[in-house]
Amino acid sequence: MVFDEVKNYSKGEFKTGSSSIIHTIISPLDGNKLSHFNESTMDDLNEIVIFAKKAQKTWQKVTMKERAQVFYKYKQLLEKNSAELTEIIYQENGKIHGEAKAEIDKAIELTEFACSLPQFVNGENMEVSKGVYCSSTRIPVGIVASIVPFNFPVMVPHWTIVNAIALGNAFILKPSESVPISSQFTARLLKEAGLPDGLFNIINGTQSTVENICDHPGIDAVTFVGSTKVAKIVYQRASHNLKQVLALGGAKNHIILLPDAHPEMASSNIVASMSGCSGQRCMAAATLIAVGDCDAILEKLIGEANKIQCGSTLGSVISKAAKERIENFITEAEQQGAKIILDGRNTIVPGKENGFYVGSTLIDYATADMRIAKEEVFGPVLAIVRVKTIDEALAIENANPYGNACSVFTQSGGLANYVTENASAGMCGVNIGVPVPREPFGFGGWNESRFGSGDITGKSSIGFFTKEKKTTTKWNPEAGTNWMS
Ligand code: NAD
Repeated sequence: MVFDEVKNYSKGEFKTGSSSIIHTIISPLDGNKLSHFNESTMDDLNEIVIFAKKAQKTWQKVTMKERAQVFYKYKQLLEKNSAELTEIIYQENGKIHGEAKAEIDKAIELTEFACSLPQFVNGENMEVSKGVYCSSTRIPVGIVASIVPFNFPVMVPHWTIVNAIALGNAFILKPSESVPISSQFTARLLKEAGLPDGLFNIINGTQSTVENICDHPGIDAVTFVGSTKVAKIVYQRASHNLKQVLALGGAKNHIILLPDAHPEMASSNIVASMSGCSGQRCMAAATLIAVGDCDAILEKLIGEANKIQCGSTLGSVISKAAKERIENFITEAEQQGAKIILDGRNTIVPGKENGFYVGSTLIDYATADMRIAKEEVFGPVLAIVRVKTIDEALAIENANPYGNACSVFTQSGGLANYVTENASAGMCGVNIGVPVPREPFGFGGWNESRFGSGDITGKSSIGFFTKEKKTTTKWNPEAGTNWMS
C-alpha cells in the first residue's frame, strides 16, 4: 500500500514542509515504503502560529456549549470512518486490526468526554463577605502543542486534541515521524465536522521540529508523550522558555501475582497485557513478580502465551532497530542465567519475511537487578521474578525509577489493598492487566513516567488546558467595607 505525501496542515490546508530533508515512512508489516514527508522549519511553525493565534481569539469567544457541538459531529465522523482509519493504523504502526480499531474506539470515548466538558467546567460563585461575591471562570491558555509517540497514532493525539480545542485553545500536533499518516485523516475529519480553520494544525518533523516547538514564543503550553529520555529534554527546554509543560515518559510496569489469584483470569489478563500491541504500550505488563508458589498459575500463563500467533493475533514491532533492541534484551537475559521459556527471537511471518516481528517471549528466573527486569524493553516480553513475600515484591516495584502502572492479582481484598496502597505508581490495578483509568478519571503516572503536574486526560486535564480567573464583585453600595473587601 502507498499513501499520498504527508504534509503539514495550517489554515485548513495541507502544505509540504519547507526543509529539504525528506523522511521516508516504512511499513513495519513488510518493510516497504508507505510515504514520505519533508522536515519542517521554524518559518513553517511561525506561519502556523500566526494564523492559529487569530483563529484562537475568535474561538475563545464562542461559548463552550457551542464549541462542544463540533465534537458531537466529529464523534459521528470517527464512527463512520472507523474502518478506513483502522487500516491506516494497521499499515503504518503494524498492530493488528482489532487493536487499531480499539484505538479509534478510545478516541471516540475521549471525544465523548470533550462533549461533556460544559458540564464539568461550570465555574464557581460565592458570597465571600456581606454583599461581596467571588466567582471563578476558566479561560483557555491559548496555543497548545502536543508531541506524540509512535505506539498509538490515533489514541494518544486524541488525549489532547479534543479537550484542548473544546476548552477554547488552538492546537498544533507534532506526530511521530514513524506514523504520521493517520493524523492527515484526523485533520480532514475535524474540518468536515465544522471546526474553523487554524484551530487544528499539524507540523511534521523530528528533533529539530520539537526544539522549534519548545522555543517558539507564541506557543503557550506543550504536552509530550514518549520516552523518558526525551520527556526530560522537552520538559526542561519548554519550561526554560516559561511554557506550561506536561511530559509523560516511559514505563516499566509490574504485576504482583499472589498464589490465590484466579488462575484463568490472571493468566489470560497478564498475557494480554504483555503481548497486546506487541508490548509497545506504556501500560504493558513488563515484569511479573510471582510471590510464593505460583507454579500452577504460571503453567496456565505459558499455555496462554503459546496460543499467540505472530502475524495474526500479534502484530509487528515498529522498526528493524526495535526488533534488534528487543532481541538483544532477551539474549542478554539468557546470558545472565535467566530461563527463556518462550522465545520470540528470529520470528518470521510467512509472506511478510521483511516485516519486523518478535514473537511473545516469557523469561523465567530473571532477577531484579537484570536489565530485562528493570529497564523498558517495549516489546512482547515478560520477565518473571520469583520472591517469597509481598514486601519483597513491593520493594522491587518501589525501587524502579518509573511509575506508570502496577497491578496485583489475588482474590484477597486485604492483600490487594496492601499492594495498591504501597505501590509507587500513578495507575494501579486489581485483577486488571492494563489498569488504564477511563474518563472522567485522568491518565498519568508518577516518578520518571511523568514530569509536570496533573493528568493528560479526564477532569484533571482541565487545569492544564485552561487558566483560572477569579473576579470579586460588589454591587450593593450599602454593603459595609471590611479589611478584606
Ligand atoms: P520517543 O521519545 O522516541 O519519541 C516521541 C516524540 O519525540 C516523537 O514525536 C519524536 O519525533 C520526538 N523526539 C525523538 N527524539 C527526540 C529528541 N532527541 N529531541 C526532541 N524530540 C525528539 O518515543 P517513541 O519511541 O515514539 O515512543 C515510545 C515511548 O513512548 C516509550 O518509552 C513509551 O513508554 C512512551 N509512551 C509513554 C506513554 C505515557 O503515557 N507515559 C504513552 C505512550 C508511549
